[in-house]
Amino acid sequence: MKRCLQCKGERLSEATTEERLEVAGKTFEASVPVIRCADCGESYYPGPELERFELEVAGALAEHGEISAEAFRFMRKALGVRACELAELLDVAQETVSRWEHGRLPIERRAAALLSAMVLDRLEGRTATLDRLKALLKPEPLPSLVRVVPRSA
Ligand SMILES: [Zn+2]
Repeated sequence: MKRCLQCKGERLSEATTEERLEVAGKTFEASVPVIRCADCGESYYPGPELERFELEVAGALAEHGEISAEAFRFMRKALGVRACELAELLDVAQETVSRWEHGRLPIERRAAALLSAMVLDRLEGRTATLDRLKALLKPEPLPSLVRVVPRSA
């Protein structure tokens, strides 16, 4: 980005903005990097910083076991997973996910654990939990002889 989209000014510089998000009765805040126009004061997110902030909030909810209907929905959306996809991965009906997210059915702890693990994986740039769930969804039969190799930790 070379010019401000608002005023076409060229005096753009790196800055930060304070972002705030309320989820499930808690307030989360962070300094998020932006590009700011010195002429009109407009700020732009240079990349997926907002999505990252939402993912960090989801991570905080996951780490603390803060699983309410709203938190569950927020975590799913922060991951960018559709309700029908999550239902398939967790082997529950789509209506079950909908009931969890609307507080009409208590969220199963194991479902919350898997969703939390997926959020924390994503924050670390991993897909281990998602890969396991996908493998269970579409198992690839092992041959009758399998040689296992110790993996380095
Ligand atoms: Zn400007």
